[in-house]
Amino acid sequence: MNKYNSLFAVFSVFLIVNISCKQSPFYSASDFEKVQKIDVHFHYNTPDIRYLQFADSLNFRFVSPNVDAEMPIDEQLEIAASLKNQFPDQFTFLGTFSVDSFNNSGFAEETIARIDQCMKAGASGIKIWKNIGMTLKDTSGRYVMADDPAFKDIFRYMEANKIPLMAHLGEPKNCWLPENEMTLDNDRRYFKNHPEYHMYLHPEAPSYQDQLDARDSLLRKYPALNVVGAHLGSMEWSVDEIAARLDRFPNFYVDMSARIGHLQYQALTDREKVRDFMIRYQNRIMYGTDMAVDEADASFVAVANGLRNRWFEQWLFLATDSMIEVKDLGGQKVKGLQLPREVIDKIYSRNTEELFKIKNRK
Ligand SMILES: [Zn+2]
Repeated sequence: MNKYNSLFAVFSVFLIVNISCKQSPFYSASDFEKVQKIDVHFHYNTPDIRYLQFADSLNFRFVSPNVDAEMPIDEQLEIAASLKNQFPDQFTFLGTFSVDSFNNSGFAEETIARIDQCMKAGASGIKIWKNIGMTLKDTSGRYVMADDPAFKDIFRYMEANKIPLMAHLGEPKNCWLPENEMTLDNDRRYFKNHPEYHMYLHPEAPSYQDQLDARDSLLRKYPALNVVGAHLGSMEWSVDEIAARLDRFPNFYVDMSARIGHLQYQALTDREKVRDFMIRYQNRIMYGTDMAVDEADASFVAVANGLRNRWFEQWLFLATDSMIEVKDLGGQKVKGLQLPREVIDKIYSRNTEELFKIKNRK
């Protein structure tokens, strides 16, 4: 081998090593289990720790929001506090308060005491629910919206103490439409089974716009309160609407839970637009599912498989360019967004870690 040949050989080896080490800008399907992930909206309503262990095996951690609905809130707090105590690095929860005593004097003080109780038990924030704006009424029979002056001392207290708020306010826009105009099968199913929440049937109740206006007014009145709008801030039908709020309110974030189907619906006609939105607001969006586990779950294996399937299917949509068949869109196929690695890392864990002060695991 002469000098030039050996130089060429060295160069070739360098080239091959360099090409094979250069990381793809995207994750693949097989990276799903390896990458650190947080489900920021997961209702962990059982002391059964097996779901935490299972999630851990897939590098998933949880933020479990307590909700002022169904299961008594003290019971939810007790379960969450115990899990937090046992798994401080893997489990985070948000406390909540009841609005049952809204019309009593002393509501604000009682609620602040409740918030303190939640925070002392290990909560990382507080969640409020759609009953504010949709069912709660004052003594004169008027609907109470989230920006009601009665909540002022409560939100000021949270601002002063840097306690983040997760707000599920309003519902998907489909809720105000007749069944045949709804865009997704799961919304059609849900409102058919829950006519009491199908606002198209209740024109006397606040409108869709009233819900958004109250939420926007909350964001404006309490600029130091960091607010996560659950379910894409109930603006799931339009990335433009979400973008406009994220631009206007620096204290606003959104979680994608239970609304990824709506992003898929928009991606059917304009994938690039949805993708650009996710990239542009990569610091303000959090991955979540709104899945739940509770004590009544009969089979751990079946439930765990269900969790894994949902998480994996959504990973394929967000991280890869696979074609995904969406059941709630009548089986139509949508191409995955294939978001860059850094964007995936932020949406899947970093944003949630920063907002809720969760320790980074890397
Ligand atoms: Zn939820």
